[in-house]
Amino acid sequence: MTSTVRTLPVMVSPDQAAERKDDGFQRIQGANVLLAIHNPNNLALLREQLSSNFQIYENPSDIDNIEFDLAIIDIPSLEQYKDALQDKKSRCEPTLLPVMLMISKRDLKHKLRPYLALVDEFITMPIDKVEFMERVVMLLRARFLAISQRDKLYYLATHDRVTGLPNEQRCIEHLTDTILAASVLNQPVYVVVFSISLDQVFKSFGHSGLDQAAVICSQRAVRAVTDNDRLFRLTTDTWCLVTPPGHHSLTHTLSVCQQMIHTISAPVNIEHDLIHIDIAIGVSHYPDDAVNTRQLLDAAINAIEHTEANVPHFYSRRLQKDALRYIRTETLLRQAITKEQFELWYQPQIDFATGEVKSVEALVRWRLPNGNLVSPGDFIPIAEKTGLITQIDRWVIIQACETMARWKEQALGIERVAVNVTACDVEEDDFVSFIDDILKKNQIPPPNLELEITEGVFFHSKSQNLEKLSHLRQRGINIAVDDFGTGYSSLSYLHTLPISILKIDRSFINSILTSENDVAITKSIIWLAKTFQLQTIAEGVENADQANYLKKLGVHIAQGFYYAKPMPENQFVEWLQNQKSAEHIKQRQSQIS
Ligand code: C2E
Ligand code: MG
Ligand code: MG
Repeated sequence: MTSTVRTLPVMVSPDQAAERKDDGFQRIQGANVLLAIHNPNNLALLREQLSSNFQIYENPSDIDNIEFDLAIIDIPSLEQYKDALQDKKSRCEPTLLPVMLMISKRDLKHKLRPYLALVDEFITMPIDKVEFMERVVMLLRARFLAISQRDKLYYLATHDRVTGLPNEQRCIEHLTDTILAASVLNQPVYVVVFSISLDQVFKSFGHSGLDQAAVICSQRAVRAVTDNDRLFRLTTDTWCLVTPPGHHSLTHTLSVCQQMIHTISAPVNIEHDLIHIDIAIGVSHYPDDAVNTRQLLDAAINAIEHTEANVPHFYSRRLQKDALRYIRTETLLRQAITKEQFELWYQPQIDFATGEVKSVEALVRWRLPNGNLVSPGDFIPIAEKTGLITQIDRWVIIQACETMARWKEQALGIERVAVNVTACDVEEDDFVSFIDDILKKNQIPPPNLELEITEGVFFHSKSQNLEKLSHLRQRGINIAVDDFGTGYSSLSYLHTLPISILKIDRSFINSILTSENDVAITKSIIWLAKTFQLQTIAEGVENADQANYLKKLGVHIAQGFYYAKPMPENQFVEWLQNQKSAEHIKQRQSQIS
């Protein structure tokens, strides 16, 4: 999980502190002024006075879409904008949107009265320039003071006095906005409420100890969340975290919860005493548990009641089941890594031109202590989410290269071993040197290794990833796009990637004899591969008809259950030797040629 260390907001935000210092003076410079004056001479005079310090809007046709801080206006314009001005002023309340009327001494007596409610200040013509500027500055100062005071009050009303975190009111506002966005995007939202046991701190150290502990726990919580999560302090001992809407947010929420448990539950030092802290976490889900803000929050608070030690409790039973599975798998995966419970199996790839097996794909398997095998589909996604995948894949690459070295000694005729790598693997700083070292250590030429990468890695990852892959490709290592055709790639982009192989996804091969669309897609993939001089591998070939057809279309290599399933190394070697002696593959080849 990526977490960013951030400091807690202070009681008065930096903006507010700056405003306190200058009492709104700094903001006067550059303020927006509406100048609506019919008389050209007066207009020119006022423009000259104001233009060096302010942004001026001159006699606009309407003022609805203009944001200004002061209106300087004459009677005809006032008549024209009366309703719009009234509307803007009332929308600004409780702050002030000042209106200054320019009026002749003659009109002062008879014409001012109807506009008194709208006008905050007036100035008579001919204009005394000094007096005019003084009044402009005074009005703007009054406006910015009112704004800064409103902001301060809002800040005080929406933030916790002790920790500076946004409070329950702000949480409800934010959650309401988040739910609205999630309903439009049709995405889930997770609300995490956690309660921290501070009773003991209060009993021993009173209010000051309680405040200290609250600040420490809040700082720890801020460290545990990511930049997109929002954290609030609801009451003395409860906090709330709202994760951003998104389809992958269960795993994100779980990893944040675990991070939170890990960081917060360390003892806190209050007045040189180490106090143990317990944290209980409840989680609710929009829209499954509730569709309204208060009910969603209450559901998470309710769920806290059922928490077991160090495991977040979900309000919904279904999610609780998924969450427990995720947490258990993660714990077991960590053990699996230290206890080396992984095995590497090999699936042969058949060269259509010769019928020979020259390459294999290495696929990881996880054997539980009770002997059961877990297939990659059940643990790779969790390993990816938790970052454990890099350790697993490094183990796979080491094993695959050692196996390749053994096979070379045995002269089995296997020339290439493919391993699957993910974006996390490539992102590791030493990914390129790690691969270089392994090849060197096992004395394997780079073309003997193939890295299989799914399309998403090319299109959604950082540019450094592409650079690293280019380096590896330049050294002669093969790079394949795995599951090609299912991802996001624009085909025209393909020639810019550092790749040598396209693996056509199983889903197309599956329906190649029945779906015209899939035939069309497969043909264009093959055409494209030929154009860019890439090798093509068809994955998931399950019968002779598919193999026959793919060979005719010009695919180079086939991999699939029709030939063999993935096997442990010793079985694979046995299988290969049997094939060679019985010339089994060649027979099959003759069936389809
Ligand atoms: P993949 O890389 O596309 O691997 C091919 C998958 O298709 C393998 O599933 C293989 O057993 C299966 N397969 C091959 N031929 C056929 C066929 O004819 N019919 C059918 N129905 N399936 C066939 P497996 O071993 O369960 O692996 C699933 C996925 O898990 C792999 O898809 C790969 O994305 C991932 N994976 C496997 N091993 C590793 C690994 O070491 N590291 C990483 N990062 N991912 C791995
Ligand atoms: Mg693969
Ligand atoms: Mg694949």
